[in-house]
Amino acid sequence: MLTIDYESWYALSRRYDHITSAERHKLDENFARNALDPILEKLGDKKITFYLVGELVEWYPELPQKIFNAGHEVGFHCQVHRPLTTVADIKQDFASSAEWRKKYQVRGYRAPMIKTIEALYPLLEENQFTYSSSLYAPTGTQIKKGNVWEFPVSAYPLWKRPKELQASRHMTPTLLLGGEFPYASSMMSGLFPKTVFRIIEKELKRGLSPILFLHPYEIIKPERWFQRIAGDVLQHPLLYPFTWNKSSFLDELLRSFPTSSVIDFVNEQIHADSKN
Ligand SMILES: [Zn+2]
Repeated sequence: MLTIDYESWYALSRRYDHITSAERHKLDENFARNALDPILEKLGDKKITFYLVGELVEWYPELPQKIFNAGHEVGFHCQVHRPLTTVADIKQDFASSAEWRKKYQVRGYRAPMIKTIEALYPLLEENQFTYSSSLYAPTGTQIKKGNVWEFPVSAYPLWKRPKELQASRHMTPTLLLGGEFPYASSMMSGLFPKTVFRIIEKELKRGLSPILFLHPYEIIKPERWFQRIAGDVLQHPLLYPFTWNKSSFLDELLRSFPTSSVIDFVNEQIHADSKN
């Protein structure tokens, strides 16, 4: 499963989290509007999931319809891109996105920075979500939390499988030192593309379905990209691999493997689970 956390170029940086929406709109300079068509074209007839930042839907209302019309899943990333790790913040984010999510019957959620809390799951249920993909965990993990499912972003356990699968499981030294290689992160497809392809192939042969993510700015280069993001990268060098162009990685991925949206896979799994 391929997913795109569809957000503006500056979402990598935490510097713009608290400026006004109008200021962020200006900063975006139509990047999120213009990047969609070339990405959809690249995807051809492959189906994937887009987790949309709701603020972009306010600025460019055509985005979810275009994604939907092309046959992809419209999922939800958050209304305004910033860390969402308290019940109050998550509730408020769900309330402010309720209208457009209802219109597009959004059922899938991806937490910003893939970092969340266990209290998320009952809130997802109240807000008509079917599933979330907001943890890192070994490929093939699926966890029922109340009436909501968690289908984590894939990691590759190097020596043993983790016992604890509670939120948060974001990318931390603890996760890495615990021996989980989060190969499905676009950070890793930037650093180790060949290894990532080998792991995907291996997992598929074992009958497992990896869940990977990319960002639009890794496929379509924003204008003056380097000048605009250099300050953040200098302060946070780990952001650097997220600024690399993964357009050819995406092309090869699409050439080499079948894809699916997450919701199609989730529905199949839930159906199989209810029969057992
Ligand atoms: Zn994000």
